[in-house]
Amino acid sequence: MTVRTRFAPSPTGYLHIGGVRTALYNWLFAKREGGQFILRIEDTDTERSTQESIDAILEGMQWLGLNYDEGPFYQTQRFDRYKELIQQLLDEGKAYRCYCSKERLEQVREAQKVNKEKPRYDGCCRELKKHPKDEPFVIRFKNPQTGAVIFEDLVRSKVTVNNKELDDLIIARTDGTPTYNFVVVVDDIDMKITHVIRGDDHLNNTPRQINILQALGAPLPIYAHLPMILGADGKRLSKRHGAVSVMQYRQDGFLPHALLNYLVRLGWSYGDQEVFSAEQMIKLFDVHSLNKSGAVFDNEKLLWLNQHYIKHDPAETLLPELQWQFQQAGIEVKAQPPLEKVLAAQRERCKTLKEMMEKSKIFYQDKVVYDEEALAKHLNNDSLVVLEYLQSGFKPLKPWDREGIAEIIDEAAEELELKKGQVAQPLRVAMTGNTISPSIDVTLELLGKERVMNQLAIAMKMVSD
Ligand code: GLU
Repeated sequence: MTVRTRFAPSPTGYLHIGGVRTALYNWLFAKREGGQFILRIEDTDTERSTQESIDAILEGMQWLGLNYDEGPFYQTQRFDRYKELIQQLLDEGKAYRCYCSKERLEQVREAQKVNKEKPRYDGCCRELKKHPKDEPFVIRFKNPQTGAVIFEDLVRSKVTVNNKELDDLIIARTDGTPTYNFVVVVDDIDMKITHVIRGDDHLNNTPRQINILQALGAPLPIYAHLPMILGADGKRLSKRHGAVSVMQYRQDGFLPHALLNYLVRLGWSYGDQEVFSAEQMIKLFDVHSLNKSGAVFDNEKLLWLNQHYIKHDPAETLLPELQWQFQQAGIEVKAQPPLEKVLAAQRERCKTLKEMMEKSKIFYQDKVVYDEEALAKHLNNDSLVVLEYLQSGFKPLKPWDREGIAEIIDEAAEELELKKGQVAQPLRVAMTGNTISPSIDVTLELLGKERVMNQLAIAMKMVSD
């Protein structure tokens, strides 16, 4: 049996972290088993589905590298197929037309409430012999009335639901459009899905879907219902807890692989290993060893992993993302200094690529933006002599490299009888506008001699004016 899994998001919002984890697990399992991973866009709710959201899903999947073998399939393009199978169920007496009015259904519900019964359709039209003419109707699935649905969930183990608990589900609305649980089943059959891995918010749908699958004579897939991801307060992760949209994580400077590595552990473990390369994830991920309880989203751990990959990933992996950060900030990355050198100088010091971009703006900005406080503290009359000394020291320096630069800074401190910081800080503020930058010699080397000399002149003028 070839394993076939699917990710089936509804395009009613952005691609969120919980969805990404579901997609990842389906992707990993298919990859590990040499199977296929399918993307299906569940867009039958035409009122809430948007093209924007479809684009966000596709963009997110691409950014994460979760490539699919088939799809994207769109449910709205498959209405003929759903109609065909609804007709088949009608013809076989496994579904029926229901003419009950809204008012009647409301009355039934009220009565059930009074009797403290679970609200459910009472089956009024189930055995109808005479059909009213020209009356609007929905189509309901004839759910078995006895017995139970029993299935072995990979996370939940054995799940048993009595058919008495389930009523006759509407599978087509009065306008003929099919409903959610029905189309999921048809798609899972047609797409030959062998494993349904999804959030446990769908657990309640599963017995209904199994009954429909059986009515259509289809084999059952294997189910794994993943526990929800929780916020630090133990409640289901939502916007209240901060960023949940995957593209927001990109904005915030996270690497796609760091996010995937973080998410793979959020519901699955392999001993106490935390860091997994893509190859390791594929090799080791096992759908049979998923956690049974909800996992709490831990931003600090994600940051830690992101930092790990910023330190250790090859430059080719990091550069496009860093470049993207500059683009987002509207800063042109010029040829000098090469971005690769900036990355090398900054990678040990940053937890996110956004932070790295912020701290590296100085290398590509035409004008230095001075921080008032740093200016007042470090660039004053006393620093003039330091800057003058450096200016004449740097002038003949060739080649312009960090060793030569460091030597002149040391020399200045010695000659002027100052601590090294008393030389480096005015210089740093003069060059960058504030007191934060990689080591001063590296910063100056990256800025290049011409810019350093110009900037020194500007700073000295500022101080003496
Ligand atoms: N469309 C559903 C959702 O976005 C998923 C359905 C499924 O996986 O069966 O929650």
